[in-house]
Amino acid sequence: MDLGIKGKRALVCASSKGLGRGCAEALAEAGVDLVMNARGAEALEATAEAIRATHGANVTTIAADITSEDGRAAVLEAAGDLDILVTNAGGPPPGMWTDWSRDDFIKALDANMLTPIALMKATLPGMMKRGWGRVVNITSVSVKSPVPVLGLSNSARAGLTGYVAGTARQVAHTGVVINNLLPGIHATDRAISLDKGAAETQGITPEQAKANREATIPVRRYGTSEEFGQTCAFMCSQHAGFMIGQNILLDGGAVNTTL
Ligand code: NAP
Repeated sequence: MDLGIKGKRALVCASSKGLGRGCAEALAEAGVDLVMNARGAEALEATAEAIRATHGANVTTIAADITSEDGRAAVLEAAGDLDILVTNAGGPPPGMWTDWSRDDFIKALDANMLTPIALMKATLPGMMKRGWGRVVNITSVSVKSPVPVLGLSNSARAGLTGYVAGTARQVAHTGVVINNLLPGIHATDRAISLDKGAAETQGITPEQAKANREATIPVRRYGTSEEFGQTCAFMCSQHAGFMIGQNILLDGGAVNTTL
């Protein structure tokens, strides 16, 4: 399918690995020019080079912490005028409700709620003026169905979801489309580290922890970054113009709900 976005310019945050990389790859395949970001310069440059080689894409890299004000300013300056914004950052650490202090919440809110909001605030006016834009926020299945050990994530991402629900409807008439993409369990470094944590807590091997989690998913496997990226690219495409303020769940059927 022609996604109709060849020549558009996208910022994909936190994209040297995992789900962000999957989104960058799929957008590059659709002919989009990329601005890619991560903190570690080496992995970021290696991924950018691989994407240039595979897709012939124009890729600008900017190594910075997207959750810091200075990092965001550097990324936005390098990005210039954007048509597409994919927000993403590392998720908060797991723990128990008894562990988390006010500072832990502020950190999670900064990274997973206020950072995407700041990025949208900075980029929406240009998209609205030009009459076309797409924003996909990578959030989490935890918005629909809480993951008890990820209370910081459950809280911060719920806040972002509320913000998007209203804002998407305020800007829709200008041709700007904002939606959230909710990953269930995907085979990335993040999933491996959560398996390791679960293994330590439960006194089992990481392989057993993975098998236990796979057994809870109707498709009996973790999702892939490629599948996730292709869905993101569709949500950034010309064809997604009537999809406003939605929360698209990619979880292999793990959340057991009818709607
Ligand atoms: P990942 O495999 O750990 O990759 C994270 C990517 O983000 C890396 O490129 C990393 O590079 C970059 N990054 C992390 N923090 C950053 C920051 N502050 N500034 C800029 N770049 C940053 O993670 P993932 O599995 O793709 O997950 C992406 C998001 O989806 C996370 O928020 C995660 O909580 C959420 N999620 C994932 C799953 C899953 O199963 N994978 C499920 C639900 C939700 P550097 O470290 O070099 O910065």
